[in-house]
Amino acid sequence: CGIVGYVGGQSALDVVIAGLKRLEYRGYDSAGVAVLADGGLAAAKKAGKLANLEKELADRPLPSGSTGIGHTRWATHGAPNDANAHPHLDNAGRVAVVHNGIIENFAALRAELTDRGHELASETDTEVVSHLLAEAFSSSGDLAEAMRQVCRRLEGAFTLVAASADAPDTVVGARRNSPLVVGVGDGEAFLASDVAAFIAYTREAVELGQDQVVELRRDGVTVTDFDGAPADVREYHVDWDA
Ligand code: GLU
Repeated sequence: CGIVGYVGGQSALDVVIAGLKRLEYRGYDSAGVAVLADGGLAAAKKAGKLANLEKELADRPLPSGSTGIGHTRWATHGAPNDANAHPHLDNAGRVAVVHNGIIENFAALRAELTDRGHELASETDTEVVSHLLAEAFSSSGDLAEAMRQVCRRLEGAFTLVAASADAPDTVVGARRNSPLVVGVGDGEAFLASDVAAFIAYTREAVELGQDQVVELRRDGVTVTDFDGAPADVREYHVDWDA
């Protein structure tokens, strides 16, 4: 129900957890994070309150990294347990995805992936996206292009945010009928379902339009439509206090 993504110079885990706390008001039943660190992807996820996830992170700390994504889930497909919590990873553990919304055609996509030898570890509609994204990324080598290719195959309402161990200092996001806002800082960038998640760090925001994909880097953001055409974006300054 809440999504946060970060690329920059700070501890991604700290920024993501702080952001998820600012989104708690939206309600959720589980939470998780993934961080790019030491050339790999480290993730933790827990059913229940963010406090449960924080306890898990205290017991089993993640290596520190400056690119990360996080999620608070409101389960629609699959029970609210640890396995169904986001992020969802591909089988190689190189791509992590968080999602708000519903992928309506997930059953057909799941069957297709199973036929190609993928093993799905959760009952969610979301997990198909991590597998499809990993496949598309391994052929295009461009995470934003991979996200565009996957989005063209999805039906339903979704906000998606993803990171890959093979795309350092990069987070990509996409939206259709579900909110996603970009925050642009100095040498850092943020993605969240609500500006409240990042206004402690920056008040320069970019509102993503319908059916758009954004690539976040330390030096800026690039927004396109699902076909890769550059998109017109609305930049604005957040001048209210949250
Ligand atoms: N449909 C997804 C799930 O059940 C995402 C739910 C959400 O929006 O948090 O895992």
